[in-house]
Amino acid sequence: KGLKKHFDIKGGVLGRKIGAVKAVDEVSFHVMPGETFGIVGESGCGKSTTGKCILQLMKPTAGKIRFEGKELTTIPPEEMRKLRRDMQIIFQDPYASLNPRHKVEKIITEPLLVHGMASAKERKARMKELLEIVGLSMYHASRYPHQFSGGQRQRIGIARALANNPKLIICDEPVSALDVSVQAQILNLLEDLRETFHLTYIFIAHDLSVVKHISHRVAVMYLGRIVELAEKDKLYSNPKHPYTEALLSAAPVPDPDVARERIILKGDVPSPSSPPLGCAFHTRCPKAMEICKIERPEFRKMEEGHFVACHLY
Ligand code: SF4
Ligand code: MG
Repeated sequence: KGLKKHFDIKGGVLGRKIGAVKAVDEVSFHVMPGETFGIVGESGCGKSTTGKCILQLMKPTAGKIRFEGKELTTIPPEEMRKLRRDMQIIFQDPYASLNPRHKVEKIITEPLLVHGMASAKERKARMKELLEIVGLSMYHASRYPHQFSGGQRQRIGIARALANNPKLIICDEPVSALDVSVQAQILNLLEDLRETFHLTYIFIAHDLSVVKHISHRVAVMYLGRIVELAEKDKLYSNPKHPYTEALLSAAPVPDPDVARERIILKGDVPSPSSPPLGCAFHTRCPKAMEICKIERPEFRKMEEGHFVACHLY
């Protein structure tokens, strides 16, 4: 609730603070148990930073993060350590997130050791189970990350995240680095795992077509803020925010007869260190009005479960 993460910009010979990048600026949402909550936006919109703040891998500048009733920003470190088992992350680049000098068996059993599974026999049995769950086998245990394909490496990352039976997994662009054919396999695996193990996902992506299949609700972020939030079907069939419309128009549609007109946005995403006044999207918005340059639109409820920040409504 009200999550903010600002990074100071320092400059000059004295290295004094000369500004701040508002990577995440007043972001609020809730995620239901068993849900997949999608967060979509271009790079630099603050979606990964939001994920890292939730897991306390980064300290937020302001705001509250509540997990099963516990306030994470003020929780004592030893309690947070216990909670870490329940909250895991899967990264975009499985290669960068797996230690290249460690065999798969070490990569997967390490979290078990950290969280107190003392017996080597138990750890091995759990590793076997985990490898099978993600579609690998003990045959892979004595190999190194470089001996696997991108998709297999992501399966290893998923096995590691599952090791301690988490409740929440933040999937930070888990398929963005993979070939399209492999993307579908990993998305299907994640979906099966969610059902089997009653997992909850926060699924971060830059591409609306990736979150479409897997998410129940989707939040669209632009320059550190959520600009639209709705149930998946509502968002895709009836987008309200001009930015969501543009993102959707860029996504490929399976049926060419229903192809939408493609909306090409002008210019690049402005720097988050000096976001435009008023609506941060006004410099690129095809529907911008005078008021958009001056007044920031409030995040308003359009109908049950559908929220948008735009002066058009
Ligand atoms: Fe476009 Fe104005 Fe709506 Fe912003 S508030 S998205 S500039 S119409
Ligand atoms: Mg990112």
